[in-house]
Amino acid sequence: MMTRRQKIINLLEERDYSISELAVMLEMRGKGSKKIIVDDLKAIAKTLKREGKVLLVQPAVCRKCGFVFSPDIHVPSKCPKCKSSWIEEPRFKISQR
Ligand SMILES: [Zn+2]
Repeated sequence: MMTRRQKIINLLEERDYSISELAVMLEMRGKGSKKIIVDDLKAIAKTLKREGKVLLVQPAVCRKCGFVFSPDIHVPSKCPKCKSSWIEEPRFKISQR
């Protein structure tokens, strides 16, 4: 039985995913699921370093004004510049260093 984190690693080695897309792939629903995946991704990023791989982050972007968020593992809810909540989520992918 593969752990949830192992499943996430396998997915991200194939292509890039947003946290919402990962939640769908892992059949995780409910309020806390994104937070769980954020925590998984943070742990995975540390694990990968030891394997000579890296978790690439394509930062979130405000779809209203184009503001680019910091490339962190998070799900931003509001744009700090224009206060819009129409946000393109960050995307994650695993790459060999
Ligand atoms: Zn904005």
